[in-house]
Amino acid sequence: MALERTLSIIKPDATRRNITGVINTKLEEAGLRIVAQKRIRMSRQMAETFYDVHRERPFFNNLVAFMTSGAVVVQILEGENAITRNREVMGATNPENADEGTIRKLYAESIESNSVHGSDALDTAATEIAYFFSDAEIHA
Ligand code: ATP
Ligand code: MG
Repeated sequence: MALERTLSIIKPDATRRNITGVINTKLEEAGLRIVAQKRIRMSRQMAETFYDVHRERPFFNNLVAFMTSGAVVVQILEGENAITRNREVMGATNPENADEGTIRKLYAESIESNSVHGSDALDTAATEIAYFFSDAEIHA
């Protein structure tokens, strides 16, 4: 077991429906601690850079438009195996394939408007955390 940190984003479909609190409760009940959090509006530039790995995918432009369509809550989650733990509680990318009880099964609207983001590996977690937060904003 390893104490890890991962970058989580509550996406615009969720902020729009005022369900950030229930999502945070799901994360905390999964054993994850929110050690940094802020509500921001991503610029087009920020969203394009953040999702650069998907730049060649057919859904890229729609994804950037969606992620900049409203407020997001960016947060750092800390816990034992936090990266895997968070992806478990998030559920599959497409809510139709997500397990019962997961955030995406409960709240996602579609494969695009799927309520939450979570880093997928140690290296991407470190890069994504540094993209949004300085050390002074993180308090375990
Ligand atoms: P995230 O990176 O947001 O945590 P993920 O790792 O489950 O999600 P990725 O494959 O990294 O999924 O896709 C990033 C995001 O792009 C998805 O969360 C979703 O919002 C959007 N997306 C992925 N696949 C599609 C698709 N086929 N059509 C539309 N949007 C998609
Ligand atoms: Mg991903």
